Amino acid sequence: MNNLGELSLIEHIRSEWGAAGRTSHGLARGVVLGIGDDCAILRPPRGHELLVTTDFTLEGSHFRRDWHPPESVGHRTLARGLSDLAAMGARPWTAFLSLALPAKMLTSRSEQAWVKRFFTGLRRLADRHAVPLVGGDTSESSGGLVLADIVLIGSAPAGRALRRSGGRAGDALYVTGELGGAAAELAYMELRATKSKSKPISPRMPRTLAIPRSWRNRWDPTSKSSAQHPQLFPQPRLAVGLALLRRRLATAAIDLSDGLSTDLAHLCRESGVGAQISSASLPIHPLALQARAAQVNRADTALELALHGGEDYELLFAAPLSARVPRSIAGVRITRIGSLVRGSSISLMDPTGRCSPLQPGGWEHFTHKH
Ligand code: ADP
Ligand code: MG
Repeated sequence: MNNLGELSLIEHIRSEWGAAGRTSHGLARGVVLGIGDDCAILRPPRGHELLVTTDFTLEGSHFRRDWHPPESVGHRTLARGLSDLAAMGARPWTAFLSLALPAKMLTSRSEQAWVKRFFTGLRRLADRHAVPLVGGDTSESSGGLVLADIVLIGSAPAGRALRRSGGRAGDALYVTGELGGAAAELAYMELRATKSKSKPISPRMPRTLAIPRSWRNRWDPTSKSSAQHPQLFPQPRLAVGLALLRRRLATAAIDLSDGLSTDLAHLCRESGVGAQISSASLPIHPLALQARAAQVNRADTALELALHGGEDYELLFAAPLSARVPRSIAGVRITRIGSLVRGSSISLMDPTGRCSPLQPGGWEHFTHKH
């Protein structure tokens, strides 16, 4: 059932995205019918399998309206689904969005600005990857929270998608990009929030985290400055995933949404192996190092942020020792961090060569508890 607010919002979405699944790249491949009817109609590419993933983005669990700008919430909503497709080497195709919004956002003009900015963030990332929004659902959220659920459909040549389960003992382990940045930026965001409420706190905010006044309209998800916001604008590694599949480099892959320690455990369990990684080899995000130096976050060291801080949306993958894995793929740094080993135990080697068990310690959003 629709009320007036819902209808006008759907009209807005429809006018922005067009009835046949338009992106800035034009009409999308294989979209026969987009927004406006009871269903979208899609024509899958021949010889390909469809990969489907769905992810919640919930106010209070995954973002805070007082900390994350609306463009960031829209971007992150889509990024979560795109990252799952990247992890399997899939090419993204279409997106569906179910959105529950507080009544005020559906009825009051001023509050609708939040929703429009949410769609700006989602749209810019969608355009970058040529993924049209072709359907969804809109509803009033009785609890007054913003709740979004994204469905992403991608495709991969039949039988070729990268799975968590293909790793073998002896394979080398790699990660893309740098780790711990998203958790570190979140710690700075918390600091900024408490600072404005109570006394000024001493640590200085890194310059890269400042958001210029003009950023709202000019912000571009491909720009260097958005890559400097790993929490607000994580960059799903689609080009890396596609290259890993195309070049047949990886035996197994997963995206790092819950943190390396937790996601590595998932990959190991599915592959029936253990792992050893070395702390000295981890590519720690500069923000995690700075946050630690400034003592922004209470107990976590930069290493702990890299191991357990989630939401980096980098890829973790395994490749046989014989595979020639380059140092960078599609402009993204690739770092070897360890190996898969026989058995089921996962250990972390410190710089002196001593090994200790690595417990999964995924990030709990906003509570900073593991
Ligand atoms: P129905 O009640 O038949 O599901 P709706 O009135 O909910 O239809 O939706 C009308 C059209 O708008 C459908 O094509 C639907 O996919 C699309 N739509 C609704 N909400 C959204 C949204 N949040 N994002 C994208 N498309 C949406
Ligand atoms: Mg509906």
